[in-house]
Amino acid sequence: MAFEGLSSRLQNVFSKLRGKGKVSEDDVSEAMREVRLALLEADVNFKVVKDFIAKVKEKAVGKEVMDSFTPGMVIIDIVNKELTDLMGGSQSKLARATKPPTVIMMVGLQGAGKTTTSGKLAKMLQKQNHRPLLVAGDIYRPAAIKQLQVLGEQIKVPVFSLGDQTSPVEIAKAGLQHGKDNGHDYVIIDTAGRLHVDEELMEELRQIHSHVNPDEVLLVVDSMTGQDAVNVADHFNKQLELTGVVLTKLDGDTRGGAALSVKAVTGCPIKFATLGEKLDALEPFHPERMASRILGMGDMLSLIEKAQSNIDTEKAKEMERKMRNAEFTFDDFLEQMDQVKKLGPIDQILDMLPGMGKMKQMKDIKVDDKQMGRIEAIVQSMTTDEKQSPEIINHNRRKRIALGSGTSLAEVNRLIKQFDEMRRMMKQFSDMMGPKGGKNKAM
Ligand code: GDP
Repeated sequence: MAFEGLSSRLQNVFSKLRGKGKVSEDDVSEAMREVRLALLEADVNFKVVKDFIAKVKEKAVGKEVMDSFTPGMVIIDIVNKELTDLMGGSQSKLARATKPPTVIMMVGLQGAGKTTTSGKLAKMLQKQNHRPLLVAGDIYRPAAIKQLQVLGEQIKVPVFSLGDQTSPVEIAKAGLQHGKDNGHDYVIIDTAGRLHVDEELMEELRQIHSHVNPDEVLLVVDSMTGQDAVNVADHFNKQLELTGVVLTKLDGDTRGGAALSVKAVTGCPIKFATLGEKLDALEPFHPERMASRILGMGDMLSLIEKAQSNIDTEKAKEMERKMRNAEFTFDDFLEQMDQVKKLGPIDQILDMLPGMGKMKQMKDIKVDDKQMGRIEAIVQSMTTDEKQSPEIINHNRRKRIALGSGTSLAEVNRLIKQFDEMRRMMKQFSDMMGPKGGKNKAM
């Protein structure tokens, strides 16, 4: 997961500070030394680290901090603000043309994730009720056009292509015209990448740029390549006027150096991050939320937004009614797990909850997709009757379920016990609230 090392190191530094009633200048220096090492280890550009530490230190040794009742907390707050600033301060939104279509040109090296990101972006826009068009302009990478067409079919977004024998400039021009003629309000042009930054590529991109006059030029970089990604961004930005960066593969980037350096080095805001191969694994980049995630303070806002766009509210209401009436069965339980899974991999969800990042580091607690899979297997090995009336699941049935799901009797027992407790709690709660949920009978 992104920022794993950095996050746990910073949290350790701050847990030492947090407990202190009084913080000396030495304490601050020691903490900053550790923050500096943590950032360098996370592959953050050394100049960026130097400036960052200088800024934090200047603010942290001020009289107000030293004299405050909770100096540790104040320092964490300073680091939080500086981290947020480092990544661009506030969210940088996608541009929108005054007269549609808005033209988005996707650029980047081969393998960075340009084609997949084009598809993800189209899907996101479509979800917001826009009518995007994808233009297949990567004629050099074998199968790039086909890949975009397959993505387009999956998300039901049309893909404009002229094959791989027409020049990318002509394709871009014709694609834009096609978009205008067919009422598309966004035209996303997937351009050709190369293995390395070279003059020929830049010239071709400049040509396309001058012909389609894009509202956005988004550079797609692979965050797993760390400082290389930052160098690529710097290079592109000097040759083309980039309007934003998309950081891909943040799910596999345990260090996070690129995310923390790109803005400071290039001046170009990070507009999106992608966290997986699935087509909905694209998130608008919010510097303040990312900083909180790094510091283990969670990101409830992103979680709520995810829930709002992915969870079926009718089903959620029905579930709530069942809980109130204690009619909740194992079938409902499975259904709920399904809804949670729609939000993304469980470890990514946990990272958004305050303090959960730390919990994940504990040895005995394991909440991951594999564990969810085992729970699901147990429930699926139950008969329909058992799922509806869990009280009939006796010892023999439990043994059969364990065998059928490839789990152990202890795991089956634990799940049923937890389920019972959950139902009992719901029942008590709904009794207390009364039939309409308003009166409190216990009073
Ligand atoms: P392009 O050459 O820049 O068009 O790159 P592609 O879009 O073909 O992506 C290259 C590879 O990276 C593909 O296998 C993608 O599935 C993968 N990829 C792209 N974005 C992500 C991401 O956010 N996370 C992960 N894990 N893989 C990604």
